Amino acid sequence: MEVEELNSNLAHRQFEETCIICENLKPKGIHLYTSFICTDCEHDLIQTDTSDPKYSYFLNKLKKVTTPEIFS
Ligand SMILES: [Zn+2]
Repeated sequence: MEVEELNSNLAHRQFEETCIICENLKPKGIHLYTSFICTDCEHDLIQTDTSDPKYSYFLNKLKKVTTPEIFS
């Protein structure tokens, strides 16, 4: 199947995606639902203490990801 070939080619390429936290295009990171978090922000998030104001900043960003767009 041509489609499968195309997909496997794409999988081997390094795509840059927009990180939901730093909003920069990064080639490496993790996917959370449909969103992307770059490795830098992932490490940052892990190392940030829960009492750090930065932590709530991250949580706010992540809320967008974990909360589906349902306004009910
Ligand atoms: Zn990032």
